[in-house]
Amino acid sequence: MKYDVAVIGGGPAGLAAAIKASLSGASVILIEREARLGGILKQCIHDGFGVVRFGEKLSGPEYADRFIKQLRQTNVQVSLFSFVTSTVQDGDLYKITYVCKDGVQHVECDNIILATGCRERTRNGIFIHGDRCAGVYTAGAAQNLVNILGAVPGKKVVILGSGDIGLIMARRLTLEGAKVVGVYEAKPTPSGLTRNIHQCLNDFDIPLHLSSTVTKVLGTTRLERVEISRVDEQMRPIAGTEQIVDCDCLVLAVGLIPENEIARGLKVPLDPKTKGAIVDQNCQTLRNGIYACGNALHVNDLVDYVSESGETAGGAVQSRDKRVLRKIETEGKLLYVVPQRLDVNAPLDKVVMYFRASEELTDQRLTVTAGDEVVFTKNYAKLLPPEMERVVVNFNKAHTLDDFVVRLEDK
Ligand SMILES: Cc1cc2nc3c(=O)[nH]c(=O)nc-3n(C[C@H](O)[C@H](O)[C@H](O)COP(=O)(O)OP(=O)(O)OC[C@H]3O[C@@H](n4cnc5c(N)ncnc54)[C@H](O)[C@@H]3O)c2cc1C
Repeated sequence: MKYDVAVIGGGPAGLAAAIKASLSGASVILIEREARLGGILKQCIHDGFGVVRFGEKLSGPEYADRFIKQLRQTNVQVSLFSFVTSTVQDGDLYKITYVCKDGVQHVECDNIILATGCRERTRNGIFIHGDRCAGVYTAGAAQNLVNILGAVPGKKVVILGSGDIGLIMARRLTLEGAKVVGVYEAKPTPSGLTRNIHQCLNDFDIPLHLSSTVTKVLGTTRLERVEISRVDEQMRPIAGTEQIVDCDCLVLAVGLIPENEIARGLKVPLDPKTKGAIVDQNCQTLRNGIYACGNALHVNDLVDYVSESGETAGGAVQSRDKRVLRKIETEGKLLYVVPQRLDVNAPLDKVVMYFRASEELTDQRLTVTAGDEVVFTKNYAKLLPPEMERVVVNFNKAHTLDDFVVRLEDK
C-alpha cells in the first residue's frame, strides 16, 4: 500500500491534517490506535471547545464530530485500532509498520504527519515517594474512567496540579459525588485560566493550596493518606511543614509532554523547550517530508489552534519546493516560540507564530526583527504562561531574510 501522506493520530490535529491533505489532492491514510476518532476530545465532555473557530462553546465530542463528518466526505482511508510500532526511511519513502486486528501491516508514503498528541506526566515523572498502592491516577486516566467508562475512581480525592485539566477534574469528580479535599499546586500562582478557578473551584467550595505539593503516598493496598509539604521558591519541599491528608484517590494533573516516540525513531530534531519537533511555518520538521502538528508539536490550551496547525501541515504536504531554512531565535522573557525556523522559499506573508511567556508579566512588547529591521511588534497589558498567544507576521516586509529574532521585553 502506497500513499502520498500517512497521518498518525486521529485527534483534532490528525483529523484536520487528513482532511486538508485530501482536499489538496493527496492520497491519505489516517492511522489511529483507538477504536474511534477524536483523540482526547472523546473524554472531554465539558464545554469550551471551538470558541475561536466556530464562535460556539462546544463539548469535545461535538467539536470532533464536526471534523469527523467532514472527513467522511473525503477519500481518506481510516485505519482504526491501529498502533504504529515503527517508521523507517527508505530512500525518498517512509515505511510505516502498524499493528491492527488484521495483524501486522506495512504502508509506504512520501510524507508523514505526526499528530500523536501528548502523554501525561506520572508519579514517577515527578518523584513522589511512598507505597505502591492503588488509587493514584493521572488526570486523563481519571477522566477516562468517569466520562467514558462510568466509574468514579475514589470517594475522597486530592488533586495535585492547578492547570485546567486538574481544575476540570476537581469539578467533574465533585459532580459525580466524590469529595475533593483540595487542589494542591507547587507554584505560588494557579496554573489554570482564571475563569476555571472560579467555575471549577470557587463555585464548588474546593480549596486551592498554593506553594504546596504531595511528598509521599501512603497505603497498604489502597491509598489511605498523602503527605503534603509546603515548598520554597525553587519548589523544594520545606522540612518540618509536612501534613497528613486522608484520601483514597490522588489525581495527578502535573503536565503534558508531547508524544514523540515516532519522531525520535525517525531522528527528527526536537526543541528542548517545547519537547516537540523543530518546525518551519508549514509545520515541516527538519527532516523533509515529516510534519508535526497539534499537541505532538507543543502543548496547546485551545483545540482551535490544534486544528489550525493540522491544517497547516495537511495543506503543505503537496508542495515540492526546495526549502531554504533560517533560524528564528528567541530572546527575553519567552518560554518558547513555534515555528523555530522560517522557510524563506515558502509564502511569508501570513506566518502564524505561537508563543508563551516564561512568567506572569505586565506591560510587555513582542518584537520580531529581521537583522536590524522590525517586521512586527505588538504590546500586551498582561501575559500568563498558561495562555498560549498567537500572532500572524508578514515576513515579506523584511528586506533581508537572514536571521530572525523574536523578543519579549518591558515596554
Ligand atoms: C482534560 C482536558 C481538557 C481540555 N479542555 C479544553 C477546552 O476546554 N477547550 C479547548 O479548546 N481545549 C481543551 N483541551 C485541549 C485540547 O483538547 C487538546 O489540545 C487537543 O485535543 C489535542 O489534540 P491532538 O490531536 O494534538 O491530540 P490528541 O487529542 O491527544 O490525539 C492524538 C491521537 O493520536 C493517537 N496516537 C498516539 N500515538 C499513536 C500511535 N503510535 N499510533 C496510532 N495512533 C496514535 C491517540 O490515540 C490519539 O487519538 C483540553 C485537554 C484536556 C486533556
